[in-house]
Amino acid sequence: MTELSRGFIQLMASDNVSNIQPTLQVLFAKSLGQTVRWKVSDGIYSYDQCILDPPLSYNYDEAKYGYALIHITDYEIKRPTPTNGLTKFKFIVKSCDVVRQEKGMIGNPVKHTGDPKTFEGINVNKLMVSTDVNVKSPIRTPFSPKGTIDPIKDISLYSTSWTIEGVVSERSVLRNIVTETKEMKAMNFVLIDKDGSDIRLSCFEDVAETWNKKIVIGKVFKISGDNLSVKETNAAFNKTTHSFELNVRRNTVVEEVVNCHTIQIPVPQLKRTKLASIGAVKSKVVDIIGLVDKVVPVAEFKTLKGDKRRMEIHLIDESCVKIPLTLWDVHCDLYSADQFKEGQVIFVSGANVNDFRFSYVLSYNYNTRIYFDVQDKAETGNLKMWNSSVRPTKTIHSNCFDMVDIPDPYHTTLIANALDFDFGEEAHSFNVVGKIQTIIGEPFYRACLHTYCTKKVYQNEKNHWVCEACDLHTTEFRYVMRMSAVIGDLSGSKKVSLFENECSRIFKCDSETLGKLYEKELESDEYDKLIKKTSADYYMFKVKTKTSDFEGKSYVNWNVQYIKPIDLGKYTKAVNRACDELEAKYALQ
Ligand SMILES: [Zn+2]
Repeated sequence: MTELSRGFIQLMASDNVSNIQPTLQVLFAKSLGQTVRWKVSDGIYSYDQCILDPPLSYNYDEAKYGYALIHITDYEIKRPTPTNGLTKFKFIVKSCDVVRQEKGMIGNPVKHTGDPKTFEGINVNKLMVSTDVNVKSPIRTPFSPKGTIDPIKDISLYSTSWTIEGVVSERSVLRNIVTETKEMKAMNFVLIDKDGSDIRLSCFEDVAETWNKKIVIGKVFKISGDNLSVKETNAAFNKTTHSFELNVRRNTVVEEVVNCHTIQIPVPQLKRTKLASIGAVKSKVVDIIGLVDKVVPVAEFKTLKGDKRRMEIHLIDESCVKIPLTLWDVHCDLYSADQFKEGQVIFVSGANVNDFRFSYVLSYNYNTRIYFDVQDKAETGNLKMWNSSVRPTKTIHSNCFDMVDIPDPYHTTLIANALDFDFGEEAHSFNVVGKIQTIIGEPFYRACLHTYCTKKVYQNEKNHWVCEACDLHTTEFRYVMRMSAVIGDLSGSKKVSLFENECSRIFKCDSETLGKLYEKELESDEYDKLIKKTSADYYMFKVKTKTSDFEGKSYVNWNVQYIKPIDLGKYTKAVNRACDELEAKYALQ
């Protein structure tokens, strides 16, 4: 990084430049006939009244394009007088050397008017730094952090040496930014101190990569640096209330303050949804207050979109449902697994609700935030109390559908309508409510003993059960439930396939028990009774379609992914209510 003579232009304006030979950057050059005018920058200010004298002795045309850094060894400042007609001071450069060409503007200099009063109050002497140009990045000696902590609100261009302490309330993911001259890694975060003042800090290049793994939301850090880190804020990118922001540089000292619970991220007003009800939220974005039940640390997964990292925080609340909150890929960097402890209450705002296989999962997105150690909200105490006294007496469901008392009529369709849908090649998912009319064949088969193998076995002439896939010959086999059945409602019927989990819900037993009952069929009618009983109950069937081709014809198969007995009386009421709502809605239009 290049050290420009920061603040030099304000020093010139206030007539305070004795013996300084500044290093400035030329932002552009313009020929004015006999002279050349430059616009120069000191990194903080830019000034456009810089005149080369004599112009022809300097061949700095390339500076027009090149953003040259120049070391000025001789100059004169001509100030306005009542008689010379000047309105601004002129900076007349008599001798200078080109240090090197830069590819772009350094920093974000503010245009100086030439009037020292415009920038009065900023002590430029404090801003003055060495006029030496270090062509290679200087690695400065680290600060020894002071014992005292500066309030974040006091950070300004005056802060020659500062130490702040605060909690990370926001953090970006590590990303590539493209400037005029190059592409680089960047990461920024916001620190809030105990007074509630916030400031934005940015890291670039290797510094960003270093801190990407360590700066996580909710942890407390003590950070010390110098005024080279301080810059005026760019309101377009900065949501904090501070007028300055900080660059984390190579010499900035960043230390984690462990077990600090006195600095909190302010928790916004949450619109809490209990975990059992997340399926009913139409926006699919929820605020959750839950107990951490289990943490699955970051692991890599193969997905269709390549390798992805994933961290899971399993949450549980008074509604007796357990649901994972999943952080994917770059979001895994925003927190560390050690921040989540079993039995701890966390507040989550703005998580997405996704329908995954047979249940719901929560996922972290760019707008989601997690709050730890929230002491001043009643929910924290209530949930901890529930955890110790009520939870042990409850059954905890890991599947939200178990908690749905009745299916949502708006998300349920008639079989006849579903048969008319044009699904095309794609799989579709919907719910129907109906009965099992007929079970086709037996609802189980004999399978290979290998639990990972689901192949059917056949009996050979030696009375051995043979799995052709595993080339396994055994005297034993295991029962696996799998059923073809016709389900029906008032509109029609359709053949569906049901698998182990769904069958066990229907028969209320496992496959081994069902198989044993079948074996005793001749002595007892229990098996027959069980089969007959299945047509008595109403179920909600969550169906997923699968299109297959057979002898040139396309068939749509219905696989039941989830099944739940329902109370027909309650469901009928819900349907009537939905009909009334729809009638009212269309009557109004
Ligand atoms: Zn096998």
